[in-house]
Amino acid sequence: MKADKPSIFIIYTGGTIGMINDPANGSLKPFDFKKIMNQIPEIKTLGYRIESFSFNPPIDSSEIQTDTWTRIAEIIEENYREFDGFVILHGTDTMAYSASALSFMLEDLAKPVIFTGSQLPIGALRTDGKENLITSIVIAAAKEFGKPVVPEVCIYFESKLSRGNRTTKVSAEQFNAFQSANYPSLANAGVHIVYNREAIRYTGKFKELVVHKQFNNHIAILKLFPGITPEYMDAVLGYKKLKGLILETYGAGNAPTESWFLERIKIVVEKGVVILDVTQCSKGSVELGRYETSRHLLNAGVISGYDITTEAATTKLMILLAQNLDDKEVKMLLNKSLKGEITLP
Ligand code: ASP
Repeated sequence: MKADKPSIFIIYTGGTIGMINDPANGSLKPFDFKKIMNQIPEIKTLGYRIESFSFNPPIDSSEIQTDTWTRIAEIIEENYREFDGFVILHGTDTMAYSASALSFMLEDLAKPVIFTGSQLPIGALRTDGKENLITSIVIAAAKEFGKPVVPEVCIYFESKLSRGNRTTKVSAEQFNAFQSANYPSLANAGVHIVYNREAIRYTGKFKELVVHKQFNNHIAILKLFPGITPEYMDAVLGYKKLKGLILETYGAGNAPTESWFLERIKIVVEKGVVILDVTQCSKGSVELGRYETSRHLLNAGVISGYDITTEAATTKLMILLAQNLDDKEVKMLLNKSLKGEITLP
């Protein structure tokens, strides 16, 4: 008996891949999904069943808000049973945030969800969009012994497949725009697509997909810098609805030990604000207590973010804070690798 054709569902949200120059002002703006597909007739030769949903209007990813993530997750949920995998066409600017968010939203995901886009529009002669899109579709459809090879939320870009919640956009210029500094690639696409099976997360038993759709966005990101003032800290920490704070620290999670700084941290922790220590370094991990300059944070009740990216920290925190959990549970889950987003010591 002939096996069914692979089936892929594409969600086009917008981004450079589908942009054209606006003749009125020369700026790039998103255009129609049909036109994108017309630019890549090669896709038909794959012989897959491909269906799609297009945002109307498509958006530049700098416009993404939490309700956009809910919309993407709902479309995946509605089509989950019927398709082998999903490809999300998305602008690169916030792609790492969206891929991180979706990784936490899609509980018990057992199928590939591959984000991709491009640095040059698909209609441009030197576009990187064609290869990115075609290979993403092939990866989303890849199966072995009837099971998906990559049942994770990923970003595919410039021949590298990375775990979505491990990536950061690092270049506004190069085709190789994303970095996964603390976790290896899940696949590399050269002449062959070589999967790194040891790095791919396989969860074992098949469970029903559960989608977390709520976010609590009363959070802040406070990036430390030499010269930071008490007034600046007060402005951020004085946010009345503040529930969670990502403290972007130096090196292995270090911060000033001055009493004005520590007092302010202690007061917000006592008020019930969850503080997550995330390093400004792209590579390496927070290690609270390794230096004198982080022990005081640990003693004040600050939580280690280990080697989490700011993108994954932001989205994980917003999702956990929306889930009727008490502070203890939120802190416990922040210290757990829920979707392979942190490396625990
Ligand atoms: N501004 C664009 C976006 O993020 C950039 C891109 O797609 O590369 O939508």
